[in-house]
Amino acid sequence: MERRNLLKAIAATPIVAFAGRAHTAQPATMKEVENLQNNWKTLLAAGTQVPAASDKLNLSKDEWRKRLDPKAYDVLREEGTERAGTSPLDREKREGVFVCAGCGLPVFTSAMKFDSGTGWPSFFTTIPGAFATKTDYKIIYPRTEYHCARCGGHHGHVFDDGPAPTRQRYCNNGVALKFIPKSGKA
Ligand SMILES: [Zn+2]
Repeated sequence: MERRNLLKAIAATPIVAFAGRAHTAQPATMKEVENLQNNWKTLLAAGTQVPAASDKLNLSKDEWRKRLDPKAYDVLREEGTERAGTSPLDREKREGVFVCAGCGLPVFTSAMKFDSGTGWPSFFTTIPGAFATKTDYKIIYPRTEYHCARCGGHHGHVFDDGPAPTRQRYCNNGVALKFIPKSGKA
């Protein structure tokens, strides 16, 4: 590439103020985001069986306590928040699919992840239909809480300071997720 064209190309690159960098090329248009959403299964390890959001999982608090370790229980069932920087999934950079730690529903792919610098795994969009939302007032201003569409487990909050083009930042507790690498090797 000629130097002049290279400079033009650099100038045309969108600047992402807060959001930092995605691990792979981040989509520039909403059409590309839709493609990521529609083709999420291409990042699922071959032969992996995953449940559907319509196959609801309703358990009692006692059943959840038995099924989850205490930290995951606190986040998923009590809307707790893990300490920033404690989840190894914040630094997970392999290709694959993130599923709900409560019920195994696929919720994000590695192609939807970006490094927000917050210390929590962060995503700019989700697998379609993975979550439902509500407004909570746990801190003074209202925040949009999101939870698993299959088991109702709390995952995190979504903010509007994410990278273009979605501008969304799904700030997810790592203990609410499990990662299935595409390679199949854990
Ligand atoms: Zn779930």
